[in-house]
Amino acid sequence: MAEKEKHNFYNQHGFPTQSQKEPGIQSQMSPIPDDGATTYVGHNRLKHKKAVITGGDSGIGRAVAIAYAHEGADIVLNYLPEEESDALEVKGIVESLGRRIKLVAGDLKSEAFNQQLVTEAVTFLGDINVLVMVAGKQQAVQDVLQLKTQQLIDTYTTNVFSMIWLVKAALPHLQPNSSIITTNSIQAEQPAAFLVDYAGTKAAIKNTTMSLAKQLANRGIRVNSVAPGPVWTPLQVSGGQLPENIPEFGQNTPIGRAGQPSEIAGAYVFLASDEASYVTGESINVTGGLK
Ligand code: NAD
Ligand code: MG
Repeated sequence: MAEKEKHNFYNQHGFPTQSQKEPGIQSQMSPIPDDGATTYVGHNRLKHKKAVITGGDSGIGRAVAIAYAHEGADIVLNYLPEEESDALEVKGIVESLGRRIKLVAGDLKSEAFNQQLVTEAVTFLGDINVLVMVAGKQQAVQDVLQLKTQQLIDTYTTNVFSMIWLVKAALPHLQPNSSIITTNSIQAEQPAAFLVDYAGTKAAIKNTTMSLAKQLANRGIRVNSVAPGPVWTPLQVSGGQLPENIPEFGQNTPIGRAGQPSEIAGAYVFLASDEASYVTGESINVTGGLK
C-alpha cells in the first residue's frame, strides 16, 4: 500500500484546476494518474496471451496495457499520433517488464485504419486472442444547441462505428478462447446533462457488446464490457468535464473520490483471463459505488 499512497490513492481533497487541448497528455497532468507500473502485482494470469489495446497511451488503456504486461501478455498498442510521448513511456514500461510491445499510431475514425491496425498486429503477434477497445472521445457541451454536427459525428464514429469496424477486421484472426472487451461507462445508465452525444454512445457500446456476445459465443469468442465511473485521466481534463467540475471530480461517489486508472485494470484482466471462460455478454461496473 505504501506505493499506492504515493499516487494519492486515497486523496479525498480534490484536484488542481487544469485544462489541456484534446486529446490530452498524461505526463502533463497534476497529479499524474497511477498507471500501475509500480503498484499492480501480476500473477501470470495472461501468460501467452496476445492483446491489441486501443487508447493505450494514457488513462485506463495505459493501465490495462501495463497490467497485461505484468500478467505476461504481449501487446500491440494504438493511440493518436499526437500522443506519441505518452505511448513511448508505455513501451518503456512494458519492455522493462520483459514483454513485447509494438506501437501503432493512427485514427480509429478511419475504417481503413482499423483494418491496418489488425494487419500490423497479426504481423507482430502472430495471432490475436484479446481485443481491448478503450479509445474514446468525450467533450462536454452544456447546451444541445451548441453541440456541433462535427463533434456528434466524431464522437459516434470514434466510440461506436470503430468498435464494429475493429471487430470485423479482427474476427478472421480470433481463434476459439478469444476475448473481446469494450469500454462503456456509468454514463450508459446515468447520463449527465452535458454529455448528450457521449452518453448515448456508451449506451450503444453496452448494447452492442451484448449483441456480439450472443452472435460470437458459438465461435468460442467471449464479448464483455467494463463500465468505469469517474477516473482521473487526460480525457477528463481535456474537455471531457466542464472545467469547474475538475476540483471535485469523483467526490460524488460513495467511496468519495475519483478512481485511478490502475484500479480499473483488474476488471479487464479478469475478462481476458481463462478464469472468465464462462462469462460473456457482461458489463462490470468499476464506479466507486455509483449506480
Ligand atoms: P484517455 O484520454 O487516457 O484515453 C482515451 C484515448 O482514446 C486517448 O488516449 C486516445 O488514444 C484514444 N482516442 C481518442 N480518439 C481516438 C481516435 N479517433 N483514434 C484513436 N484513438 C483515439 O482517457 P480515459 O478516461 O482513460 O478513456 C478511456 C476510455 O474510458 C474511454 O472510452 C472513455 O469513454 C472511458 N471512460 C472513462 C471514464 C473516466 O472517468 N475517465 C469513465 C467512464 C468511461
Ligand atoms: Mg491519451
